[in-house]
Amino acid sequence: MTDRALVLFSGGQDSATCLAWALARYQHVETVGFAYGQRHAIELGCRETLRQGMAGIADWGGRLGPDHMVDMTSAMAAVGQTALTSETEIATTGEGLPNTFVPGRNLLFLTYAAAIAYRRGLRRIVAGVCETDYSGYPDCRDDTVKAMQLALNLGMQRRFVLETPLMWRDKSATWALAKTLGGDTLVELIRTESHSCYLGDRTVLHAWGYGCGTCPACQLRRSGWERWSEERT
Ligand code: ZN
Repeated sequence: MTDRALVLFSGGQDSATCLAWALARYQHVETVGFAYGQRHAIELGCRETLRQGMAGIADWGGRLGPDHMVDMTSAMAAVGQTALTSETEIATTGEGLPNTFVPGRNLLFLTYAAAIAYRRGLRRIVAGVCETDYSGYPDCRDDTVKAMQLALNLGMQRRFVLETPLMWRDKSATWALAKTLGGDTLVELIRTESHSCYLGDRTVLHAWGYGCGTCPACQLRRSGWERWSEERT
């Protein structure tokens, strides 16, 4: 059971890198995705392409287990609108949080993931949350994840390990990690098939991947790619 993992896999750059990280380490890896009415639902469509691509790298195909989808669309709609789930302009709120913040979203995701991990006998739960490129989401903090691990283990009578390989890596280091894990094949797969743009724009393939180029997610992705490219040359 210690060698079995569940990766929270949205189809973005971070979770794709986490999936590769888990496949390089563990004998059996399953994935879970969440639909919550996000306006970049196109990200979810990238998931299967990424999974298939990674199954072709090293011996990862034999390790990749089933994918799970949890539809939280109506539950999230009942909680209320944010700029991630509606056409509202992306901005910063009075509390200093981006209005893309869905309150407690990662807490919900981790709880559902743990329930699936419980049922499937998976000990490790891998999430691509990160405090370094901190977008101001308090549910991405290291302390939050540690507190969730404690709560889930108490509440489910298990010994889950919540793994966050990107917690202290910036976006440049995330590309470097992908290169280490799966070489140029993995970097190219993530560059062209993962999706980060909040607006769901996949019309133009930039050096750093698809996206509008101006939303906060695209800016973060682009600057990380550019820093990594400079470091490599
Ligand atoms: Zn964008």
